[in-house]
Amino acid sequence: MNRERFDAWLRNIYETQDVEISCTECFDLISQFVELETSGQDASAELSQVKQHLYQCRACHDEYEMLRDLARFENEGGPPLLDDL
Ligand SMILES: [Zn+2]
Repeated sequence: MNRERFDAWLRNIYETQDVEISCTECFDLISQFVELETSGQDASAELSQVKQHLYQCRACHDEYEMLRDLARFENEGGPPLLDDL
């Protein structure tokens, strides 16, 4: 499946959602999304368009995972020691 067809396929799946954001917009909102999530709020409800984009976009999802892990480490009192990685 080429990229264009893949995008069209994804659009079909998510066409029920009418709000779409770009990667740039998503990147701006990821930290906010993670903040909501780590503070125990319903990030998917507050920022549903980010949640939707994360499902569709690998790059943004990677960024999200990285920020989420960082936030977790902060909550747990600092990053893990290099030895633990
Ligand atoms: Zn993206």
